Amino acid sequence: MLIDGHGRSVSYLRVSVTERCNFRCQYCMPEKPFSWVPKENLLSFEDLFLFIKVGIDEGINKIRITGGEPLLRADLDKFIKMISDYRADLDLALTTNAYLLKPIAQKLKDVGLKRINISLDTLKPEIAQKIAQKDVLKKVLEGIEEAQKVGLGVKLNSVPLKGINDEEIIDLLEFAKSKNMGIRYIEYMENKFAKDKLQGLNAQEVQDIIATKYNFKPAGRVESSPAHLFELDDGYRFGIIDPHKHDFCEDCNRIRLTAEGMLIPCLYFDEAMSIKDAVQKGDVKAAANVLKEVLANKPEKNKWGADDENEISQRAFYETGG
Ligand code: SAM
Ligand code: SF4
Repeated sequence: MLIDGHGRSVSYLRVSVTERCNFRCQYCMPEKPFSWVPKENLLSFEDLFLFIKVGIDEGINKIRITGGEPLLRADLDKFIKMISDYRADLDLALTTNAYLLKPIAQKLKDVGLKRINISLDTLKPEIAQKIAQKDVLKKVLEGIEEAQKVGLGVKLNSVPLKGINDEEIIDLLEFAKSKNMGIRYIEYMENKFAKDKLQGLNAQEVQDIIATKYNFKPAGRVESSPAHLFELDDGYRFGIIDPHKHDFCEDCNRIRLTAEGMLIPCLYFDEAMSIKDAVQKGDVKAAANVLKEVLANKPEKNKWGADDENEISQRAFYETGG
C-alpha cells in the first residue's frame, strides 16, 4: 500500500502518453505550444510500463491513460494490452476527446480497456468549433456512439464556461441521461496556458441551473473520487468536480506521470521528479524510490481554493493529463 506524507492512501496513477493534441481547447491549449517535447525525449511504452509495474506491485489499482490527446500516440492499443496483461483486474481507463475514437474503439476494448471518459462541452457544432478551434463535434459524437456500441463504460466530462456553453448544462445532462452515461461537470481550473479572461461556472452555479428543471439531492462521493454526486428524482446521478473547495484534496489518491517521465504529486504545483534514468536503466529499485519520495512530498492541497484568490496554476493541463 502506498501512503503519502499526509497519511493518504494513493492507488491511482494517471499516465499522460503525449502532450500533443489535435484540439486547441480554450481552457487547455488555445495555441500550439512554442515547441513540442522532441519525440526522442518521450519515454517508450516499455519504459513507462516498467514504472507502471512498479506502481502496481506497490499498490496502484487504477490507471488512466490521458494526454494531450492519447489517441495520437501510435500503438496505444499495444500499451494498453501490456498493462492489462500484467494485471487483468486493474481499473484501466482512458480519457480522450474522442475525435479519433470510432475506428479504434473495438480494438481498445479487445485489449482490455474497461472505461473511457470523453470530453464533451457542447452539443452545438458552432460552439464546439469555438471551444476546440476546430470543427470537431460530428466525429466526437461518432466516437461516443462507437464506444458505447463496443461495450466500453462511457462517462462524459464537461467544463462549463460563462458566455460559451453555460446555456447547455441541462441539454448535456439530458443527452448523457438519454444514453445511460454518466456526466461530470468540471469547474474550470485557472492555468497560465488557458485563454485570457475565460471564466468558469462554479459548482453552485451549475446546480442552480439544473435546479430550474430538475429536483435532485446530494448523493455523496464515490470513494476518493473528486466528483460530488447528485441524484435526480428518477435515480439518475450526475457529478460536479469542484477543485476550488478544499475537500477536493482531503482524500486525494492520485499521482501523475508525464510522457517525459516526470512524476507529479499534484495537478496544481510545478514540483515533479523524473523516473527516466531509473526506468531506462531498468532499475526497479530506483524507480520505486522515486515513487516513494514523490509521495512523501505530495502537497496537502492545491491553491485554487477560495482563500487563494487569483491563484493560477503554472502547469499545463495538456502536459499533466488533467
Ligand atoms: N485530450 C483528452 C480530453 O480532452 O479528454 C485528455 C486530456 S485533457 C487535459 C483531460 C481533461 O482535462 C478533459 O476532460 C478536459 O476537459 C480537462 N481540462 C483541461 N483543461 C482544463 C481546465 N483548465 N479546467 C478544467 N478541466 C480541464
Ligand atoms: Fe486537447 Fe484535451 Fe486539452 Fe482539449 S482538453 S486541448 S482535447 S488535451
